Amino acid sequence: MNEGIPLGVSSCLLGNPVRYDGGHQRDRYITDTLAPYFFFVPVCPEVESGLPVPRETMRLVAAEGEPVRLITSRTAQDLTEQMESWCRQRVEELASEELCGFIFKKDSPSSGLHRVKLYHPSGQSSRREGRGLFAEAFVGRFPLIPVEEEGRLHDAHLRENFIERVFALKRWRDFLSEDPDYRALIQFHTAQKLLMMAHDPSKYQAMGRLVAQGKEVPRDELLNTYGRLYLQALQSFATVKKNTNVLQHILGYFREHLTSDEKAELLEILEDYRAHQVPITVPLTLVKHYIRKYGIAYLQGQVYLSPHPAELMLRNHV
Ligand code: SF4
Repeated sequence: MNEGIPLGVSSCLLGNPVRYDGGHQRDRYITDTLAPYFFFVPVCPEVESGLPVPRETMRLVAAEGEPVRLITSRTAQDLTEQMESWCRQRVEELASEELCGFIFKKDSPSSGLHRVKLYHPSGQSSRREGRGLFAEAFVGRFPLIPVEEEGRLHDAHLRENFIERVFALKRWRDFLSEDPDYRALIQFHTAQKLLMMAHDPSKYQAMGRLVAQGKEVPRDELLNTYGRLYLQALQSFATVKKNTNVLQHILGYFREHLTSDEKAELLEILEDYRAHQVPITVPLTLVKHYIRKYGIAYLQGQVYLSPHPAELMLRNHV
């Protein structure tokens, strides 16, 4: 058995020497910080589709509105069919890996997810509008699996959002593996409430309506629809404004227990967070303290309070 959450990663980011020049692009955040929690599934589209190391560089080429081609830079060989045919087969293989996310190598014509250079056939100009062919195939086949690029993971907000979604997908898959009944879905839904409110309150309401009518919906259809809404809701970012609403909602559960000093301190910290003066860990630490102190069982079960391991320190800068 492989330990950890299955996470696809562009192979060169793991330190494998698969780049066109025989080098790698090891990313220490992935190989050092994330490694204890994940089981990495490396993918190098260029090598796995049959290209050698070292090899000629390649790029995406298309005139405005024309299909994108993958062309080698010096000899102008068209590798599009070879790559696309391999992509179709590889994404089907990956379906059985139960990946909970994928980290792509930025800027690559095969692996880049966002703003990859797309060259005009004349070679005279480029625009940052492309997506690597494998990244395109992956996103098309698995629209609900969280995806990111290693470069964007240096941004604290993007990083926190991505990892939170990865852990959420793992939670959902674990839940499904237990052959859940309607009662179990209600429990799952209850525990996700605050997390959903922090991401997408309107999707959360739709999920609530679905669960309320759940007994009239065939079980598989109910779980499929719920899972889709759950993962789509997490695609919306948890902003400071939405988090502040959630924290105020939490406060409502123990407002009567707090002394006037405790209440004043908590409100002051909430205001500091709302004004972007402290990260969310500051109000959350105090909130968790009061939840423990006053034994608020409902809140203790909320995933929102600990959606991923604290050791990853993802909330220290958001
Ligand atoms: S960017 Fe993608 S295709 Fe290029 S070496 Fe890395 S894994 Fe392979």
